[in-house]
Formats: sequence, C-alpha cells, structure tokens
Amino acid sequence: MVHRVLSLALSAVLSDASVGGIKLISVADEIKLGRQAQKEVKSEIPEVGGAPGVYVSAIGRKLAAAARGPKYPYNFSIANYREINAFALPGGPVWVHRGAIQAAANESQLAGVLAHEIAHIAQRHAADQISKGVIANGLLGLLGAVLGISGGARTAQTGAEILAGGYMMKFSRDDEREADRVGVEIMRRAGWDARGMVEFMQTLRTRAGRDPGSVEVFLSTHPSPSDRVERLRAQLRGVRAGGRRDSAEFARIHATLAHMAPARAMPKR
Ligand SMILES: [Zn+2]
Repeated sequence: MVHRVLSLALSAVLSDASVGGIKLISVADEIKLGRQAQKEVKSEIPEVGGAPGVYVSAIGRKLAAAARGPKYPYNFSIANYREINAFALPGGPVWVHRGAIQAAANESQLAGVLAHEIAHIAQRHAADQISKGVIANGLLGLLGAVLGISGGARTAQTGAEILAGGYMMKFSRDDEREADRVGVEIMRRAGWDARGMVEFMQTLRTRAGRDPGSVEVFLSTHPSPSDRVERLRAQLRGVRAGGRRDSAEFARIHATLAHMAPARAMPKR
C-alpha cells in the first residue's frame, strides 16, 4: 500500500523534496497527491450523496475548521459500504463508510470517527509514511532521478494506475494514537462531546465479537479498540464533560440510511 502511494509520489507530484528533512513532500504536493487519489477513489467507490452526504460534510467542515496545522482543502464523502471503516487521503479528502454512520449511536460518535481522520491529515501522517517509505527502501537516489523527469499526461496516468486499489494507507501505531489524541482536541474545540470517540470504540469492540467481518478492515489498520479506549479515557480524565452529543438531524439521516437499499460489501482487495 505504502509502496503504491510512494510510487505515485515519486512519479507524479514530487516538487519540494528535501533529503535532510523528515517530510520529503510539501503540503502542496500532498494536496496534489490527494486530489489525484480522490479522482481514482470516486471512480471506484459507490457513494451516498443527497441529504446524508450534505449532513456528513457539514459536520466534517465544522470539525476541520477546529483543526490546527496547514489549511488543507478538507472534504467529506460517504462510501456505500456496510463495513465499519473510514479513511483519509493525503491533503484533504475524508471518506466514511455508510456502515460506520449506521453503527454510530449518536452524532458525537460519528464526529469522533471524522475527527480522527481529520487529525491524520492535519498532522501530515501521509507525508510521514511516504517519507519513511522512501528512506526505508533506499529510494533516495531514485527520488533524485524522478525529480529530473518532467510531469505530464504520462506520469499522471501512471499515478492513477498505481493508485487503483491502493488508496488506504496504513499508518504507524504512533500516528494512530496521535490521531486519537488530536481528534479528541478537535472535537472539543468544535463543540462536540469527546466521549463520543470512546463510545464508538466500545461499539467496535462489541462488533468484533458479534460480526467480525464488519470490522475486519478497520481492525487490521488500527490498534486494538481496548488499547485506544484506555488511552482516551486517560486523556479525558479530569476534563469536564460537555458538548454536543446528538441532534434531530442525526436521527433523520439514520432513518434515511435505514430505508435505503442495503449497503454493499466492500470488495476484497
Ligand atoms: Zn487512523
């Protein structure tokens, strides 16, 4: 996975690599990379638009406005898949599966899922992963060679091919913990009850026992829910509870989704 994104970075959008720094790609490169990935993902994934799409975007935008870090062009989409999952592309696009929205019991739980993904973007975890991949694979020489090649239609096409099926990045355990921690801060600044994030992880834990297939992908890309719950509880200890937990709109969207044709199963990759 990392290799695919890495190759794309090398072949398509690298313009500001600094070998000495930790991050080998710039914010502008991340945004370009994410736009290209988003095009590919949109052509592959069945999307839920309409009122649910508008609603998730509205929540996402409020949370993103409370994120620190570069001003990425955040945007939010719903994948019409039944599995509980969410993912972030570099530089702005966030996807949440319909299954995750339907598994959430209130708005703050959904906000927790989105805040975690926003935190991955705000903390530039994609740039970390790509940079680590370049270094770990001894590709610095290649990086230099690629930088000499001009972009254009051919590299864009190569990038799109490479990305097909490879958009879900696996972040490090530290990055995941940071996304939880920063996600909680984002939720609180944006006015949601941060306990929603903990509650959603407890739901994941329950689901893992009852319907393992629905959380398989999520669990393979994230630390165990128990570990995350424990850390988040420690972070929230002593913090005054409060903030928005639910809304009539959330209930309406839940009802809308429940009446739609069932979400599809995510294709196996
Ligand atoms: Zn994550």
